[in-house]
Amino acid sequence: MAKPTYEIYALKYAGPFIRPAPMVYWFHDMDKKIQINYYIFAICGEGETIIVDCGCAPELARERDLTGYVNPGEVLKRIDIVAEEVKHLVVTHIHFDHISGVELFPNATIFVQEKEFNFWMHNPIAKRAPFLHVTDPVGNRYLAELEGSKRLQLIEGDQEIFPGIELLLCPGHTIGLQTVAVNTEKGVAVIGSDAAHIFASYRTDIPSAIITDMVAWMSSYDKIREKASSIGQIFPGHDIALTDHYPKVAEDVSRLV
Ligand SMILES: [Zn+2]
Repeated sequence: MAKPTYEIYALKYAGPFIRPAPMVYWFHDMDKKIQINYYIFAICGEGETIIVDCGCAPELARERDLTGYVNPGEVLKRIDIVAEEVKHLVVTHIHFDHISGVELFPNATIFVQEKEFNFWMHNPIAKRAPFLHVTDPVGNRYLAELEGSKRLQLIEGDQEIFPGIELLLCPGHTIGLQTVAVNTEKGVAVIGSDAAHIFASYRTDIPSAIITDMVAWMSSYDKIREKASSIGQIFPGHDIALTDHYPKVAEDVSRLV
């Protein structure tokens, strides 16, 4: 029987931010700037809604003074998704812009890689400066308290969580970042999150400058490219083209597939 297909939406919840280009495109375009946005993603189909990443909580957004911030729950409402009712939440990795909003989804089962969870929750290295810089202590505490509960699903490696939706362990940016391979009408698409900040990385092998393991990262690129039906079906975590180059279905919400 053919696998079910899903639609994928990108929901911008903050930005645009102007950053030095080498921050998102390692050691390249040293004198250039680049615009990026912050996103969450929604996978819809077969009567299910799976949200990928939580965005930022309003308190932290204020603290970090995030340009153009809208509560991710408000953005979801624009496509009739109620955050409090979401049942399935994939956390790609435990950086503040992807985990901080976790409390907006009080009824969701959370899928996160065990390696990623154990590093941020239990490894003292995670409290050192380069890691603290990208940590939301509040979001992390909330997640830590879920350890051992049914709401927290710790994933070991690659795993299909619904027919046609597979989590892929893709380390590099972080120790246990996961991407999401989704069966769509156009074949397999991959929500890559911060395996790349921008589309170009999947063609050039040049990742962002936030690196945990560069060797693992290159293998992750091989894995993602092999899984996706085409390179155009791999979606990065922060590219402004996610809003600008795809059909708009609501304010700051675009349909990718
Ligand atoms: Zn990010």
